[in-house]
Amino acid sequence: MRTDDVPQSRSHFQQKAEALTNDSSKSRQRGPNTVLAHGPYDPRSLHGFVNPPVVHASTVLFESTAAMKKRQSLPYTYGLRGTPTTKALEDALSELEGAAGTILVPSGLAAISIPMLAFLGAGDHCLIVDSVYSPTRSFANGTLRRMGVEVEYFDPHVGADIAALMRPNTRVVFLEAPGSNTFEMMDVGAVCDAAHAGGAVTMLDNTWATPLFFRPLEHGVDLSIHALTKYPGGHSDVMLGSVSANEASYRRLRETQLQIGVNAAPDDTYLVIRGLKTMGVRLQRHQASALELATWLSGRDDVAEVRHPALPSFFDHDLYARQFGGSSGLFSFLLPGGFDRAAAFLDALEIFGLGYSWGGHESLAVAVDLSDRTVCKGPADGTFIRLQVGLEDVADLVADLERGFAAAGAVG
Ligand SMILES: *Cc1c(COP(=O)(O)O)cnc(C)c1O
Repeated sequence: MRTDDVPQSRSHFQQKAEALTNDSSKSRQRGPNTVLAHGPYDPRSLHGFVNPPVVHASTVLFESTAAMKKRQSLPYTYGLRGTPTTKALEDALSELEGAAGTILVPSGLAAISIPMLAFLGAGDHCLIVDSVYSPTRSFANGTLRRMGVEVEYFDPHVGADIAALMRPNTRVVFLEAPGSNTFEMMDVGAVCDAAHAGGAVTMLDNTWATPLFFRPLEHGVDLSIHALTKYPGGHSDVMLGSVSANEASYRRLRETQLQIGVNAAPDDTYLVIRGLKTMGVRLQRHQASALELATWLSGRDDVAEVRHPALPSFFDHDLYARQFGGSSGLFSFLLPGGFDRAAAFLDALEIFGLGYSWGGHESLAVAVDLSDRTVCKGPADGTFIRLQVGLEDVADLVADLERGFAAAGAVG
């Protein structure tokens, strides 16, 4: 593929939105909820319809052979390479993340594997935080190692000491904050500074915070990754992922996406565009309800520990408060005793569903499996239970958890 085939990182929609913003409010940046409500999509570009069109496409027709030859100057040339629908979502995410460009892929996991494939090759060394989303580890231990990449895991609290783990061939440092299931926070800026000093590219899985609560590129991260399946989709009915990159990393990311041959399907993209409109208000509710439940849980004698970054008693609360602007609806707590107590707790729940994923309207609970950890191992006693707090009434959720505690108490 010729590099000049790569679409420009900023569409005319985005440029127009910036021009409009500048006209109406001089140098003031639009707030994130305004970006969510209006996006960079300009209704005047399509007869005034408020929402972008859902374009189903493979072929794009050209006016002449001359236009075909000069296609790199055209905004759209083939379905795989993007449509007005994918462009609308990419531009919205780029604006929210403060990124030069964004790619869309069919799942959050693909939003992890594709940037890794873009920046790693045989003989390279890759550093990954140990509290990473489990399937990220499976990809690294499976595909990356098979490709000849050396994979090493580090403590989320490593901070600037990551410099000691850097090798001449370290190409990627992969972060996630907070950590999956155990919610350790990281000093993102310190890790990125040391990674850059060693010549590595930094990636951060930002799914938990969304760009409303954390903007990784402002802390030195090169590529910010999202499972759009979670809060942006918000209704447990779609899977999609995104990677938002700074100027230095965007071109290589986009080239790799197109070389591999993945993009987002139009209807899935539209569901996420629709979900984004209400993400701000949904997150306010997820945040308030989860904090209320976490506070209630931390007052109980039958709970050993609550892991919620926004709780002042949480061991990494300072790291959270210094870097993040808010918290979402996912946290965990430690139920003491054997797994039979955790199973009894979970099986007694009537409103919390037992299921994977999170970020939707409905509450979910799962027993956390930490058996793949190499640094941040699981507790000596008890089971972490992870709660995804949905949009239900908190009093009903409390009553449901009380059913769980009664069932666990009956086991012993
Ligand atoms: C769910 C999740 C993913 C993967 O998203 P999918 O769309 O389910 O593939 C990636 N990272 C984190 C932190 C997640 O929780």
